[in-house]
Amino acid sequence: MTAAEDDWTEAVRLLSSYDEVALVCHVGPDGDALGSMLALGLALRARGTKVRASWGSEPFEVPAAYSSLPGLDLLVEAEQIPEAPGLLIAFDTGSTDRLGSLADRVETANDVLVIDHHVTNTRFGTVNVVDERAAATAVVVVELLDRMGLPLTAEIAAPVYTGLVTDTGSFKYAATTPEVHVLAARLLATGIRHDIISRDIWDTAPFAYVQLLGAVCSRAVLEPAEVGGLGLVWATVTGEDLERFGLALSDVEGVIDVLRTSGEAEVAVVVKSDPADGLLKVSTRSKGAVDVGAVCAALGGGGHRFAAGYTSADDTGTTIARLRAALATTPHLPV
Ligand code: AMP
Ligand code: MN
Ligand code: MN
Repeated sequence: MTAAEDDWTEAVRLLSSYDEVALVCHVGPDGDALGSMLALGLALRARGTKVRASWGSEPFEVPAAYSSLPGLDLLVEAEQIPEAPGLLIAFDTGSTDRLGSLADRVETANDVLVIDHHVTNTRFGTVNVVDERAAATAVVVVELLDRMGLPLTAEIAAPVYTGLVTDTGSFKYAATTPEVHVLAARLLATGIRHDIISRDIWDTAPFAYVQLLGAVCSRAVLEPAEVGGLGLVWATVTGEDLERFGLALSDVEGVIDVLRTSGEAEVAVVVKSDPADGLLKVSTRSKGAVDVGAVCAALGGGGHRFAAGYTSADDTGTTIARLRAALATTPHLPV
């Protein structure tokens, strides 16, 4: 269900009744989380609002792919988000646990505005603008800007474009509707360097990443009989891998994109060890015949139908065994 007219009206009202706002996005921010947050942050600041933006996970470091985005000066460390904000705005976040150390601000804030597109969104705000049909949270932000009558400048268009290309996999995923291309055209017309934005996201990595890919992919396991015969491919990125190649968890987000090219497997899984908490971060992707979002939700996580994840406190063997079992009984969708 898309956001109701009343929700949009309430959101616009909230945004015009505070002259100071705290923006937060999900832990381990991706291009959409960061891009949608910075885009609205820049627009509000240009209008004269005091803006602080952050996320509740360590390390507090902007991933290299997004380090040239405008608006990074809006970012503050999580502790600098006020204990009891007037208005808290959460971006690309389906549930409060995805806010990590900043989840408590949902309780202490006077108002909470949730801006999102996850099907699994729990509507934890006092006002929720959740459009499950939107390809990215950044799309929802643009609609909000339009409704507020705020201009979509090149500075704002760059982070919006970042969210849009990230969540559509460079306009390749099924979420790429005609509206997505219309919005992309509008963004390009502002004069943004979309070529540099895309290169930073997709085509730039340290040499060590290329070497890590080799090590990780050489250990990948293909199990054609799993997922009810549709096939599973999985790999692990261990703490030792990260240490050996000198990489952070945010540097290895793209491993799943290489793994899922395996034609023999409907579902691809990457199990990553998070050095910050020792827990396993599980990334899953399907090609359209399996709802991995539902599978991950049942395992305590969430996401979208064909791209989802969860956190596991088990060891790798147990984690994969439980996931295999869940995937074996999940219904196959018509493709
Ligand atoms: P990732 O595999 O980390 O790129 O995440 C894919 C999708 O699943 C994104 O939309 C995430 O927001 C969502 N997701 C990943 N991990 C979790 C989690 N622990 N809980 C809820 N959603 C998640
Ligand atoms: Mn996201
Ligand atoms: Mn998103």
